[in-house]
Amino acid sequence: MANQDTARLQQLDRDHYLHPFTDFKSLGEEGSRVVTRAEGVYIYDSEGNRILDGMAGLWCVNIGYGRKELVEAATSQLEQLPYYNSFFKTTHPPAVALAEKLCQLAPAHMNRVFFTGSGSEANDTVLRMVRRYWTIKGKPEKQWVIGRKNGYHGSTVAGMSLGGMAPMHEQGGPCVPGITHIRQPYWFGEGRDMSQDTFGRECAAALEERILELGEENVAAFIAEPVQGAGGAIMPPESYWPAVKEVLAKYDILLVVDEVICGFGRLGEWFGSQHYDLEPDLMPIAKGLSSGYLPIGGVLVGDRVADTLINEGGEFFHGFTYSGHPACAAVALRNLELLEAEGIVDRVRDDLGPYLAKRWASLADHPLVGEARSLGLMGALELVADQQTGERFDESLAAGNLCRDLCFDNGLVMRSVGDTMLISPALVITREEIDELIGLTRQALDETARRLI
Ligand code: PLP
Repeated sequence: MANQDTARLQQLDRDHYLHPFTDFKSLGEEGSRVVTRAEGVYIYDSEGNRILDGMAGLWCVNIGYGRKELVEAATSQLEQLPYYNSFFKTTHPPAVALAEKLCQLAPAHMNRVFFTGSGSEANDTVLRMVRRYWTIKGKPEKQWVIGRKNGYHGSTVAGMSLGGMAPMHEQGGPCVPGITHIRQPYWFGEGRDMSQDTFGRECAAALEERILELGEENVAAFIAEPVQGAGGAIMPPESYWPAVKEVLAKYDILLVVDEVICGFGRLGEWFGSQHYDLEPDLMPIAKGLSSGYLPIGGVLVGDRVADTLINEGGEFFHGFTYSGHPACAAVALRNLELLEAEGIVDRVRDDLGPYLAKRWASLADHPLVGEARSLGLMGALELVADQQTGERFDESLAAGNLCRDLCFDNGLVMRSVGDTMLISPALVITREEIDELIGLTRQALDETARRLI
């Protein structure tokens, strides 16, 4: 694509397109990078640059770009039946087949799924289902949902309220009432004055404290990501989830595990819940479900909640025009079949995850890196001004954004959350491509250091 086409697209983009999660004004000044095509783990921009996509789009293109099988699944479904709903006692083959497949892959006690168009809608569904469940059970006062600070559960009003992103809460008035947040298990950011083990237990104890403050009889559910994604690829200390499970076992509260990022192989199991041995009552899913080729999400529902909704609940007044959309369902099903047939999830667990862990950890010797952590194919680097003390750069330097921009210019997509650099590449990345990713990251760190120190 010629230069003038890029400039024209950038101008039209400025003039008409309000982008998600974007400072509209700064976009006007700088102009957007125009991405035009993609293959494997690489994206290409309108100027012909090849860029290694270390984020798999937005943590979603698990199977990699350019899979013709998914195009074929979409095309043939669009020809056969482009749309029909599943309201009012109708259904269609792709949604049924996808539901069956998901329930095969999910933990054994999860045998039902409700489809949505996105992860945010999945979490709206979670909130409605949790409240509906307790109302049917004759305990309508069980309304409170406990989430975590810096957790992310989407951008709709319910998703934003369940999440604990302060900047989102500060925009636009009150959140949904009846939602409260406890501290996050972010050892590097908040717990380095104690051992990981102790810190993990303290964070779990905060859950019990909040349950007791609110009164167990008023608490409906606890919601958390297995590993916080958007919050900064925060892998909790080993002690955290076992201690949370102990707390939950004492109280009659539902567990919601948000698998929107961790699901579909990211951590080396089909679901993050399997990695941490969790038994969720509800699991919101999206992203890797269709590898982002078409939009689809859902909520996997455990037997306890499903049996109640089905046998005792009557009509549940909830659903979306695109719940179980035939083409999206067909693509998602093909995506899951390919992930399974090609052993991609096992490869993350047995080969690529351990390989990335070794290579990623090698970056910890860089003077800018305070911590290099990874699990499966998700990783984070903590940028610091002083490696010994872990002191951060002054916020005004925006070190993370600088490093992110340098990465992009140098042929690698990384994401920054404050001064935490994140990667989450497609699960089909090869060892050689991981080596390339590590090399590009080191170059960007060197260049960032040159500018800051
Ligand atoms: N839940 C988690 C854990 C997420 O990371 C996201 C998106 O990043 C969502 C929910 C929201 O999904 P969506 O953007 O599809 O609405």
